[in-house]
Amino acid sequence: MTTSYWLSEPTQPFPSVTVDNPDVVVVGAGVTGCAAALRLAQAGKSVRLVDGREVAGGASGRNGGFALRGMPAAFDVTAESVGEDTASALMAWTERAIDTIESLAGDAFRRVGSLRIAVDEEERDELRVEYEALVAAGFRAEWLEGSELHNPDQFTAALRHVPDGALQPARFVRRLAGIAAEAGVEIREHTRIASLDELGDATVVVCVDGYPSGLLGPIEGLVIPTRGQVIATEPIPERYFEVPHYGRHGYDYWHQDEAGRIVAGGFRDVSLDSEFTADERLTDNVQHALRSFVNGLVGRELRVDFAWAGIFGMVMDFLPIVGRAPGLENVWVAGGYSGHGNVLGFACGELVAQAVAGEDAPFLDTLDPARLLNADG
Ligand SMILES: Cc1cc2nc3c(=O)[nH]c(=O)nc-3n(C[C@H](O)[C@H](O)[C@H](O)COP(=O)(O)OP(=O)(O)OC[C@H]3O[C@@H](n4cnc5c(N)ncnc54)[C@H](O)[C@@H]3O)c2cc1C
Repeated sequence: MTTSYWLSEPTQPFPSVTVDNPDVVVVGAGVTGCAAALRLAQAGKSVRLVDGREVAGGASGRNGGFALRGMPAAFDVTAESVGEDTASALMAWTERAIDTIESLAGDAFRRVGSLRIAVDEEERDELRVEYEALVAAGFRAEWLEGSELHNPDQFTAALRHVPDGALQPARFVRRLAGIAAEAGVEIREHTRIASLDELGDATVVVCVDGYPSGLLGPIEGLVIPTRGQVIATEPIPERYFEVPHYGRHGYDYWHQDEAGRIVAGGFRDVSLDSEFTADERLTDNVQHALRSFVNGLVGRELRVDFAWAGIFGMVMDFLPIVGRAPGLENVWVAGGYSGHGNVLGFACGELVAQAVAGEDAPFLDTLDPARLLNADG
């Protein structure tokens, strides 16, 4: 029952590659690490990609499967914190990342858009502000009234993010790892790195998002491990939610996959404090809330075939961290996507690789990991 539905899909071994004395060791074989490793190999670096579990065994194979553009905060909120030009540039960058994901993912990605749902008037007003800001900045967005949604009694309106989509995230990341191996990356699964000393002179790129790695020196723990719990129901014949839906400021999210299963996650706020943890155990109260919510959506009780948890990394300013790890020689980091890492993780993995390879790499000032040391201080 604690197996991720996505990870339960059978997988093929990756092409066997051995790299002696790699230029770069990438730690963490989720979406970030795989994207970084591929990009570094394409830049001519010899690369080893290691993970204490298997490829996609962390959040990348345990998430909701939403492929979302933008930063974790709403577009207008991000514009307030980083300025309109930077917010627009970040938004366009993540839209390009979705295009690249589409070109690599094959049947692991469906370009169906996503719906940000309002559950009350306050959320409706907030979404309307974001919708107008997106349109004014030239980004594609659509406004739907509650009457156009499947559950008009529960939801008052929705903002459609047109370029978004739905992922089978484990299938996508495994595919990405396979492409990286074909490009010359050595993949070592079930190999936990206990200390940077093990990695010799190699440049190290730490891509662990919310999982404690013990490798990040002064910023270890400052990307806050946060648990998310997810369920997948029995397949149902009705097709209500082919588009990813998320409401209550992202606390609840659900959609149906191609098999007709409803995959639903969230309800962290049932027990907010206890969900700031790196422990992947399921809890009764969040599981109960998820099941009741899904039964309410379809108006009958559904069997739950899979239930699982994963850990993501929360950053209080809702911007990822990408750049040199402060206080450490030759160590870089990308992570901290605050539950929004499928597309952003891919983009940040590529970005950190560009920086390591000495290529042009935008946004490094805005996303500088050193800002975590000055937070609240
Ligand atoms: C329940 C849940 C639902 C989510 N839903 C969505 C969603 O719908 N859409 C979205 O965009 N985002 C979502 N997210 C967030 C998204 O899944 C993550 O931000 C993203 O997958 C992070 O990818 P990553 O590659 O950076 O890290 P991960 O995929 O978490 O991989 C990190 C890896 O690092 C490895 N590792 C850690 N330390 C070491 C070490 N010392 N040595 C070796 N290996 C190590 C771990 O084993 C792990 O496999 C969700 C997250 C969770 C948990």
